[in-house]
Amino acid sequence: MKPTDPIVDLDARSFGRHSREALANDSLRGALDLVTTEFADRREKALSLAPDWEIWREQARAIKAHTLASLDTYLAQFMERAEANGITVHVARDRQEACTLTAEIIQQTQASTVVKSKSMVTEEIGLNEHLIAQGLEPVETDLGEWIIQLAGEKPSHIIAPAIHRTREDVGRLFHTELGIPETHDVEELTAVARRFLRARFAEAEVGVSGVNFLVAETGSFLVLENEGNARLCTSLPKVHIAITGIEKVIPRLADLDVFLRLLPRSGTGQAMTTYQTLFTGPKPDPSGEGPEAIHLVLLDNGRSNQLSTPLEREALACIRCGACLNVCPVYKQVGGHAYGSVYPGPIGAVITPALAGQDRAGNLPHASSLCGACRDVCPVKINLPELLLELREKGDEAGRSETVGFGAWSRIASRPRLNSVLGKVLTRTLRLSQSPGVVGRCVGKLMRFLVPPLRTWQAGRVLPPMPARSFRQLWRAGLDGEDPPA
Ligand code: SF4
Repeated sequence: MKPTDPIVDLDARSFGRHSREALANDSLRGALDLVTTEFADRREKALSLAPDWEIWREQARAIKAHTLASLDTYLAQFMERAEANGITVHVARDRQEACTLTAEIIQQTQASTVVKSKSMVTEEIGLNEHLIAQGLEPVETDLGEWIIQLAGEKPSHIIAPAIHRTREDVGRLFHTELGIPETHDVEELTAVARRFLRARFAEAEVGVSGVNFLVAETGSFLVLENEGNARLCTSLPKVHIAITGIEKVIPRLADLDVFLRLLPRSGTGQAMTTYQTLFTGPKPDPSGEGPEAIHLVLLDNGRSNQLSTPLEREALACIRCGACLNVCPVYKQVGGHAYGSVYPGPIGAVITPALAGQDRAGNLPHASSLCGACRDVCPVKINLPELLLELREKGDEAGRSETVGFGAWSRIASRPRLNSVLGKVLTRTLRLSQSPGVVGRCVGKLMRFLVPPLRTWQAGRVLPPMPARSFRQLWRAGLDGEDPPA
């Protein structure tokens, strides 16, 4: 069976449609504002205590650039050493192969319940939907992931999947889905989740996790988490299946040092992630603790195509910290579901066209003001605005019209006389369109008809009244020593 498309609801116009819905949802916007501001503030505070921050960023960028330039070599080294450690390594070309492989491994163990820790790659391949279709029962154990699984939703943030849900929402959800009395007390809600999930950990025969880093030198892999659920998922069941993208490899164990400093500070503002688990093979002694078998699924799913162009290769350096989402003025207003992809925000707008195709996701690179805040916070210095511009140019109609529009503007702006004449014509026409009566209304309609971007812009905004004098007139008056009008 073909795995479910991980792109939830995406077509060439869906971002606009979903954004309008999100902007009308005050509860969602309140939750987004609260959490993204909190994350960004905590990050700022953590950085104020890290004077070598920029040096770490440079080091991390250099490690990623070096590794991605020789990815085949490091992957081969990793696979050889991981196999020598007793880890069974599988390579999946696409999400269908990854889902089929994972389901087969689970079915071989005769397990029906599978506990899962948070993993964006399993969201990318639509693993849960595939396992359910095979008669298996995947249970998310990260609190946020479990909440959205109960709600039948997709994550709306890379590191905080239920960021869009308030505690009142969660209280109502638990009441409906679990039949408990409705409460909005966070401790009580957490205790309910703990009680429910502990029982699932105890009965599961297979645990599925993501991976944060693969270490070529030692053939080991690292999983980072804050709740302790990933440790339970990967140590209690007999079989551990880890699934990750091929870009997660780094050359040496010592390279982890800089990433372990950057990732938690960027994501949650922590100096250190609470649990850092390095896996270097199954338990050697049957009487010992830990899984009897570890399988690692390395997923390509278009990543090797991204390696061929320098700009797209840069996106593969992402360590999924989520910092670019928390500062993006677009994400902060509309949230993750508006993007229609499991990868939202600035990095999602870059990754999704590669995953879903330009025809469906070509409009996402336009979901940005290009303010550069994402580039400034990125711990591996990915130039997201440049990537977004590149994708706009590469892609769709809007990209071409933008290129034509900016090209025309640049030619006009570099000719002062022409600029002045056209400026006067535009100002007078706008004034006329704002004048009362039939003439004003007709001119306004004509302008909106002739200039479609103006129509879109005015759909949600009111053009302020044109001032009596233009900027040029005010500037000239100022130079002549005349006081500008109040
Ligand atoms: S692009 Fe940079 S800031 Fe955004 S999630 Fe990836 S690593 Fe973090």
